[in-house]
Amino acid sequence: MNSDVVHLGDLLRRHGLHLKKRLGQNFLADPVHLDRIVAAAELGLDDVVLEIGPGVGTLTARLARQAGQVIAVELDAGLLPALRETLAPYPNVTIVQGDILQLDPIQLVSLTAYPAQPATLDGIDNSQLTIHNSKFKVVANLPYYITSAAIRHLLSASVRPELIVLTVQREVAQRIIAKPPEMSLLAVSVQLFAQPEIVARIPAGAFYPPPKVDSAILRLRPWQHPPVDLPSEDHFFEVVRAGFGQRRKQLRNSLKS
Ligand code: SAM
Repeated sequence: MNSDVVHLGDLLRRHGLHLKKRLGQNFLADPVHLDRIVAAAELGLDDVVLEIGPGVGTLTARLARQAGQVIAVELDAGLLPALRETLAPYPNVTIVQGDILQLDPIQLVSLTAYPAQPATLDGIDNSQLTIHNSKFKVVANLPYYITSAAIRHLLSASVRPELIVLTVQREVAQRIIAKPPEMSLLAVSVQLFAQPEIVARIPAGAFYPPPKVDSAILRLRPWQHPPVDLPSEDHFFEVVRAGFGQRRKQLRNSLKS
């Protein structure tokens, strides 16, 4: 058994933690795949990383060793004591308890400007948040139930991340990188804003507990300049949604309705 699995099991036991399926708590315990995720993020010491769902910090500690600053947003307050224990040696990590879908990525990244490192955004006057560093990367072993919503949230942020490295279900990663005529609404919504690629496959057995399906490391490189010039994104998606809405109908008829 590798040392990361031993550490994870020991940490969960000592803190009396039972993993919650409904929050997608399948923790990655294999150091080879953890290192691959970190390598995919192409980190340097001047990078600010936003990590979604650090769990008990196995991936976060690796990110903290390679990046300048890490902001780790965890929804489950019950994990925080174990998370704080793992991350105690890393002063460049800020832990925030909250739901990533309710938080503004730019505000989170601005927290790196706070020397006292507040643990929540509550009580912080937004007007005081300076956009200290608007360049940031996102790394997440995403809870599967928020995959699409989280990608949408990140790609529609007022400043898009430089790079997004996500662990997602393998089948979802394949759908996201699909080309015409296999594209889905999800593929169009991602590829309009970023170039997606699958970096590696992660077998289900690399997680504790193992999920039902394999995963993949997906890297999204947001375009510097959009591939198409859209006068209105809302209008564009209205048309695309109509097109995908009734696949059996002729496109002309779908668009008419
Ligand atoms: N990063 C750890 C790893 O690689 O082993 C844990 C990944 S686990 C798949 C997903 C984590 O996301 C869990 O710790 C879960 O509690 C957290 N989570 C679930 N929904 C969330 C949300 N809406 N916002 C932030 N974290 C969330």
